[in-house]
Formats: sequence, structure tokens, C-alpha cells
Amino acid sequence: MISLQVKGVLKKSGHAHRKSLNDSLDGELKGFLIDEGQLHTYDDLTKVNPVTPTTVLKCLQARYRAQVFYTHAGCTLVALNPFQPIPGLYTLEVMKQYHCAPQPQESKPHIFIVAEEAYRNVQGQVDPVNQSLVVSGESGAGKTWTSRCLMKYYATVAASSSQMKSQDTVEMIERRVLDSNPIMEAFGNACTLRNSNSSRFGKYIQLQLDRSQLLVGASVQTYLLEKTRVAAQPANERNFHIFYQMTKGASVDQRKDWKIPYDQSFAWLPNAEKALEEDCFNETVEAMLHLGIDTEKQGHIFRILAGLLHLGNITFCTVADESQPCDIKEHSKDCVQDCAGLLDIPVEELQTYLRVQTLRAGNQSVLFRPCSLADCWVRRDCLAKVIYAQLFEWLVMFINDSVCAKKSTWCNFIGLLDVYGFECFQVNSLEQLCINYANEKLQQHFVAHYLKAQQEEYVSEGLEWSFVKYQDNQGCLDLLEGIPTGVFSLLNEECRLNRASDAKQFQGRLEKELSGNSSMSRDKFSKLPHFTVAHYAGKVSYQIEGMMEKNKDPVPPELIHLVQKSQNPLLHQLFADRQAEDQGARGLRQVVTVVSRFKNSLESLMKILHSTTPHYTRCIKPNPECRPLTFRKEEVILQLEACGIVETIHISAAGFPISLLTFWPNLQLELLEESRIRARSQRAFAIQCCWHRYQRRRRHARRRAAILIQAGVRSWLVRREVQRWNQAAAVLQRSWRKWRDLREEEPVMVRGWPMGLALASAPTITVSMTATGFHKMMSAMACLSAHCFRSGEYKVETNQFKQGVASIRAQPRGSIKLHYQRSPLLYADRRPDHKRDGVTGLNQILLEGI
Ligand code: ADP
Repeated sequence: MISLQVKGVLKKSGHAHRKSLNDSLDGELKGFLIDEGQLHTYDDLTKVNPVTPTTVLKCLQARYRAQVFYTHAGCTLVALNPFQPIPGLYTLEVMKQYHCAPQPQESKPHIFIVAEEAYRNVQGQVDPVNQSLVVSGESGAGKTWTSRCLMKYYATVAASSSQMKSQDTVEMIERRVLDSNPIMEAFGNACTLRNSNSSRFGKYIQLQLDRSQLLVGASVQTYLLEKTRVAAQPANERNFHIFYQMTKGASVDQRKDWKIPYDQSFAWLPNAEKALEEDCFNETVEAMLHLGIDTEKQGHIFRILAGLLHLGNITFCTVADESQPCDIKEHSKDCVQDCAGLLDIPVEELQTYLRVQTLRAGNQSVLFRPCSLADCWVRRDCLAKVIYAQLFEWLVMFINDSVCAKKSTWCNFIGLLDVYGFECFQVNSLEQLCINYANEKLQQHFVAHYLKAQQEEYVSEGLEWSFVKYQDNQGCLDLLEGIPTGVFSLLNEECRLNRASDAKQFQGRLEKELSGNSSMSRDKFSKLPHFTVAHYAGKVSYQIEGMMEKNKDPVPPELIHLVQKSQNPLLHQLFADRQAEDQGARGLRQVVTVVSRFKNSLESLMKILHSTTPHYTRCIKPNPECRPLTFRKEEVILQLEACGIVETIHISAAGFPISLLTFWPNLQLELLEESRIRARSQRAFAIQCCWHRYQRRRRHARRRAAILIQAGVRSWLVRREVQRWNQAAAVLQRSWRKWRDLREEEPVMVRGWPMGLALASAPTITVSMTATGFHKMMSAMACLSAHCFRSGEYKVETNQFKQGVASIRAQPRGSIKLHYQRSPLLYADRRPDHKRDGVTGLNQILLEGI
């Protein structure tokens, strides 16, 4: 149960409003249909008022008539199948138009809007960055077509902005991804009553994008291939396309090799006379070659498939002596030969193990027990199914190896989920149960995601809206997947007990254990064992007979051992790692049931979906005959109910009062529009202000950072300079002291008269003295210092290096020229004063020198 409650949304019984379609049309649509000519202009079904299946239907019909095939329904896109190519709908120009549109959502509804939205989400890197495009609908509704359109779109837009080299890569990947389609379709699609090219498996294609959102690879994951179709085709339906392609398109040599002459008929190829465009063998072979499946490998594949066709022609009959195995009918004895030859397995063993079961008694001894006639048929079909399923899996793996990019080269992905829609046939069995379970899971994911998104939007916009109860499908899911008492758990439990299954008994068990769940019921008038599940899309009755066997999906171990002996390298490889399920003497087996396998793969798919942003597309099949441009109301309304589209619209319409807006007078709408524009420009102004402030702050911070760096560098330079000075001074001091110590005795110095303050403060000065007599002598004395030693000796030196006299030139007559230069050596033993207010640098040197 989802705790969100949405205004005006009450889950209606899917069948209540179906009772009389035409009557209700008259009543409900009275107001709505006033202007029927305008119905096709409703781009979004949430604008329809009142939202009922009939109003929605009418709107879709009007659009279909006007050849408009896409319509929004809140966050879902409804795609109506035109069943004929519509010129200009999917061209390169249209793709570019949507890709370049500033607001694609405001363009006409199209599948490309969904594609572009997902692509822009990846570009925007808003969490969750990875995207999932969920395409659902019943068989023939257009899922495969839609997936192909999406792939082509990405192959185009993911390449358009790139350079040449990448474009080649993208084209190669695109080619390969698109080439994988005909192969998957040939092996996994079949002609059914509902669709001539119906996918008989689910698939999730992951398109891998690199940092620049270029398509660099892809991977495919498949779900629940309907392998029973290999050995049993419903009336008026066909086997998988590939068998018909082979029998129709083989060359003369191939016919000889595969033992399929023109006149040969095969029991497993009904309705071969139907000519379908899908029966194109060459196209499949070409695609295989492109993907790297060479002629040799193809030969192995086609020989296996031909072997299966011959296997289907083997028939059995009982013999009088019940202790003996059943006989192979005379006319099918050749088929055993052909089958064994094509599968490259020993013919005697094939003959034996189709009819005889081996039982292990104790450790060594092996007992042979003849199978009943029914068991012989089952064993034959089982062999065909297991081989085909393994082959299909191998193909998917091969395709993945060929198109999957290295994990290091891609960082985001867009996933395309092409799933089978909700199914309800005359007789429904395990396959339908699994398919409908998958649809329930997807529906729950959809509702949870959608309601959450809606609620967040309204809360963020400050919209006041009341919540009412909304019932989701958790009850039905509990019924199916509940542990320990759910349909699947009980079914698995039954299969693990090694006893013949009894449908009646199982029905009793289900009723006893699950009677409390309101989604479970039983048709009291039906005598056949069954149970009815109330799915979100309607009630479906499931036949219990045969369900347990299908769930066990047993493969006789001796048949696995047999194919493991095959000389066909591919067939051998398919089963090389497979452990045969040996039946122990005590009869207990480790059975991995179909249901548990399916549940597991569905769980991993749901995990991926939960971690991505989903986009939903619901394909609708407008008529069962696949006739172009034909809209059948009855057919469409069933599908609208089945995919819960009306409910989705209800939720959207109730949550957002847009439906009211559509009936307001134009003037009021204009006023509203004006205030919207005003509000928008106010927001834009506020955003601009914030942006400017942010820019200013950033500039200021940068400037401060630059100043700090500069100051740091300067102080480092100064420190380095001072250090050098200090080092130089130290060297000089050392030299000086050494020199002084070398002197024998300390001299007494008699200084001459100083030249005055001028000399002390000027770094360099030349003085010309023209004085005579005593003055001249005194001046000369200023330049000289006399060192008198105690011994009575004396030494006269110039004051050079002491008082800054650089040179003395005494002219014979007249003046003495003194050149004073203050040597830095005078200050070699001084350090700069670090006191803050002290005089520093040259000034200090000058002052100290005075
Ligand atoms: P699904 O995969 O749902 O079973 P398909 O995609 O195979 O259905 O579509 C069924 C048929 O409808 C195909 O023959 C396909 O060519 C046709 N079809 C589907 N969608 C379109 C479309 N948009 N335009 C033209 N033909 C379409």
C-alpha cells in the first residue's frame, strides 16, 4: 500500500464502466463533446474533462482520425499504432527538430520527446543520471517498432555532435545494435493470432554512453523466452520465424545438407504457407555476418535447428509388452537418423533415451525403465526446448560480446525495456502468470515513481491539495510473491516434493493458505482446477493442470549427457558446463524452478529500474486485425484499462487542476498567463541577482588569494636575499678574524681627521682638495691611518675600506684627489633589524655609518 493519497483518485473497478459503452458515452460526454471538432487538439489527456474511459477514448479516436498518433497522459506517452508507415513522421529532420528544440516538451507529442528528455537528463547529470525507457503494450501494439525508433534516434543524436572518428564508432555500434534486431527477431519472434511479428521474450537493451554522451556500446538482457513454442504452437499460430526462414530460403546445397527437400513437411512448422515479410533468410544471414557469426558457425547453428525440425517428426506408439519401451513409428525412423546426424549425436542412444529412463540405484548400478507413451512425447519436446533455449542464450551472449563496450569506456546508459504486456487468454498457464506478475511489478514501480514525482512537484510549488486514499497493487503482489505463503512459494514447494502433481489438491492448498487475500478468488462454476487473480488490469483465471510440470521444467539427465557427446562443436559448447540434474535414488532433487529463475531476473531488472529515471510509453493496438488506420473502441478501451492509463490520467488531472483551466474563459487564461510570465521574470531576476553576487564574491576571493600569493613570494624572496647577505657576512667575518688572528700583535691605530658627515652619508664622492700647508696635511691625514706598534715602529695605511676611501691621488703640485666609496664590506657584520618600526635597508646602513 502506498501511503500517498491523491485528491479525487478512487480506484474504480475496471469493469464497472464497461457495462454499456455507448450509453455512458451519451451521458458523460454531453458537456465534453460540445465542440467535437476540437477533440483532436488535446495534446495531453489530463486536459480532458471529465476524465473517464469514454472521454479519453473519444479524444484518442479523434486524434487517430486526424492521423495524430502520440498523446501525452501526464508523464506517460500513449502511442497508437497506425499499422502503416506514416511519411515524414520519423525522418532525420524530425529527429533534429526535436533534438534542437529549446523545450521539446512544448512540441507536438512524439516518441522523440521521450527520447530527448532522457538524453538531456544524461547530459544534465542530474541524479539518477541513468535512464530507463519502459515501452509496454500488448502484442502487436508497436513496442518493437517504438524500441527501434528510439535506438535510431540515439544512434543519430549521439553521433551528430561528434567528430569523424567517433561517428564511425557510433555508426558501427548503431549498425551492430540494429543488426542484432533481425537476429533476435528471427529467433525470438513468431507469428501469433495478435501480431505477425510478436516478440516471444522480454528484453532490456542498455545503450552505453561515454562522458560526451556518445553511443559507444550496448548490451542486451532477455527474459522468459517462450520456448514451449518450439515444440507446440497454438492453433493458427506459428513457430519461431527462423525455422520458416530456413525452409523457405535455403539454397540447394543447404537443403541437401539439412535434409529439407522442398516437399518435406514438418510437424513443428504449422502455417508455413503464410507468406510473411519476416521470412527473410538472407537478411538474418547478413546480420549474422555483420555481427561476426561466420559461415562456419552459421553452419553449426542451422544444422542444430534442422535437427530439431526432424526431431519434431519423430512419433511413438505403444507396444503390447508393457515392460518394453514404446516403439518409434516406422515412418519416422528416418527422422531419428536425420536428427541424430544433424545434431551429431549417436543415433542408438538418441533412440534409447527418448524412450527409456535411467535410474541410479546406489552408487554404481543403473536401472533402465521404459517410459510411458506420454513421457516419450514429453522427453522429445523437452530435448528440443532445452536445445533451442540454450542456443538463444548463446546468441544473446554473442551479440553482447560484439556490441558491448568496455566498462571503462562508458559511464552512463539509457535502457530500453521492451516487455510483453498484460495477457489474458481463454486458457492461461504459468507463462501468463509470470508475464502478468512482471506487469504488476512494473505497474507498482510506475505508480510509486509517478506519485512520488507528483507529490514532490506540488510540495515544491507550495500547492495546497488534499490527499485521499490511493490503493496500489501491493495486495496482488503479496498474493503472488508472498513468503512463505504466496502462489509462487506454494508452487515451488509443490515442485520440490518428488511426487506426481495433483492439480485438485494444489487448488485446495492455495485456497486454504490464501483465502485471506482479497485478490484471490475462484469461479464456482468452473470444474477445472484453477485460481483467479484480481490484477490491476482485470481478473485472470489460471489453469492449474500442467503448471507444476512447467515450473519444474525437468530435463532428463540422460538427454543432457547425450548432447554433451555431440560432435557439433557449438552444440557441445552449449551444454559443456551444464550439470545434468541427476535423480537420486531417494528421489529428492534440487530444482531451480522457472518461477524462481524468473523472479530473480525480474528482481535484478527492478533494481536497475529503481536506480534510473523512468519514462513510460504505452503502445496501444487500435484493432486486432492490424488493419491500417482502423480504430476499434472496444479493443482500445480494454487496453486502456489493462495498462491503467485512465487511472494515471485521474491522478494527474486530480493532482493538477489543469482540467479546470481548459474550461475557463480566455480572458482569465490570459490574466493567468500574464501573472505566470511576471512570476517567471521575477524568478529570473532573483536568479540573476544571485548569480551576480556569486560572481562578485568569487572575483573578490580570487583577488585576495592572488595578493596572498604575491606577498608570500615576496617575503620568500626577501628572506632568501637576507640569508645570502648573512652568509656573505659570515664568510667575510670569518676571513677577517682569521686575518686578524694571523697578525702578530694588535696595532694601535691613529686615525686621521674624518672628512665630515658628508663623506659618511654619500655612498660615493670625489673630493678635490686644493688646500695647502697645515690644511693639506690634515686632509691627507684624514685619508691615512697610522698604526704605531709598541716596538716603536709604525705603519701608515690609507683609510680605504675603513672610512670608505676608494682611491687617493696626490698630484705633485696642488690638490690631492680622494675618491670615497662606501664599501658594503664595512657593514658585513651587520644584520637587518627586525624590529617593526626600526629603520631598515639602505637608510639604516647610512645612519649607522654616520
Ligand atoms: P509488438 O512489438 O508490440 O508486438 P510491433 O512493434 O511488432 O508490435 O508492431 C506490430 C506491427 O505494427 C508491425 O508490423 C509494425 O510495422 C507496425 N507498427 C508499429 N508501430 C508503427 C508505427 N509507429 N508506424 C507504422 N507501423 C507501425
